[in-house]
Amino acid sequence: MTDLNKEIGAYTKNLNKASKDPNINRAITRAVKSYRETVSSTMDRYPHTEKLAEEVREIKAYSMQHNRELREQAMEAIERNHGKAFFAKDKDEVFRILDEIVGTGKVIVKGKSMLGEELKLRHGLEKAGNEVWETDLGEFILQLKDDRPMHILSPAIHVPREQVAEIFSDFFKKEVPPDIAQEVGVVREFLREKYFTADIGISGANVVAADTGQVVIIENEGNVRLCTGAPPVHIVIVGIEKLVPSFLEAMMTAEVTWRYAQYGAPSYVNIISGPSKTGDIEKVTTYGAHGPKEFYVIFVNNGRSKMMAEEHFSQASHCLRCGGCMYECPVFQVTAGHYGKTYLSGIGSVWTAFVEGGADDAAPMLYTCLRCGRCVERCPMQIDVPSMVGELRSRVVSSEE
Ligand code: SF4
Repeated sequence: MTDLNKEIGAYTKNLNKASKDPNINRAITRAVKSYRETVSSTMDRYPHTEKLAEEVREIKAYSMQHNRELREQAMEAIERNHGKAFFAKDKDEVFRILDEIVGTGKVIVKGKSMLGEELKLRHGLEKAGNEVWETDLGEFILQLKDDRPMHILSPAIHVPREQVAEIFSDFFKKEVPPDIAQEVGVVREFLREKYFTADIGISGANVVAADTGQVVIIENEGNVRLCTGAPPVHIVIVGIEKLVPSFLEAMMTAEVTWRYAQYGAPSYVNIISGPSKTGDIEKVTTYGAHGPKEFYVIFVNNGRSKMMAEEHFSQASHCLRCGGCMYECPVFQVTAGHYGKTYLSGIGSVWTAFVEGGADDAAPMLYTCLRCGRCVERCPMQIDVPSMVGELRSRVVSSEE
């Protein structure tokens, strides 16, 4: 049996197993119901969202065509704001840059980031001798469970409260009941101390404004505020596809992202331009006030420019990571993130083909897609996943001929 056949065999077995897992079944049924109800009432309350999404589609199309110049503009703006900007063409370069900034023996608090998952960031930093804590509640559960995300926005979607209670009771060495408020409470208490003793905070970003160099991060838990505000150093690791030309367009993109992620208004929208500063003594600007003294942004390519350059696939880079399509996907509804690697479901299969290998590596996912098109109906960017999956399948077939 070839390695590929073995991989496909294991993947299929896993999908079958997942579809019979009562924990996955219970958790996803609850999540899909809640998503559909919330997103529909949110859209009724903010009816301008669909029109705004249309405008964001144009912003994204322009931004992908002008990505290189937007990146150069953003890097200049970040340096002007007294931050430091880097461009990493691949995973190795990201870790080379991180090695210079972070080194070893540091305590790091980290926010949720799909790019972080793609790069296996926590594992890489731990391997370099650092202590790293995931601070998003779902990611924290997965860190303790030694598991991977099963949804891009709700990484621990497959873990019901009863299982969370078992994991926390084991880790905190005390009885934690299957009560969600109490489960949240124990993590809050544990991580508070970490934020204020950590050497470094690491976050991703939802969108970056090229003209001002401002990084926008949407969140609800408040963990990103603490990760990016309390430690003396803040590092942002962001994919180049997140660049848009202006601050106003960044805010439009952010609003569409959170609305399709089912939030009327998220608890927090963090907008960060550089290290903290003050001019309160004699109007002399001094960097490093109450927040971070150092601010770094690493723009990461890792296959993205190739995706943007291909006419048929450029639209995949418009993905806002709102997660809406996954709740509509009939396969995802029974298998959760087992339908995928880092990136999940139909759109994830296209991303896998560009940023985690080639079409062959994405083949099991490409052939899991039913090409039913339900994801396109939900997608604010109207990304035509079925047609891209079809095209990639033909590449898999021709590579075997
Ligand atoms: S493909 Fe569309 S619906 Fe799915 S996560 Fe991306 S933007 Fe959201």
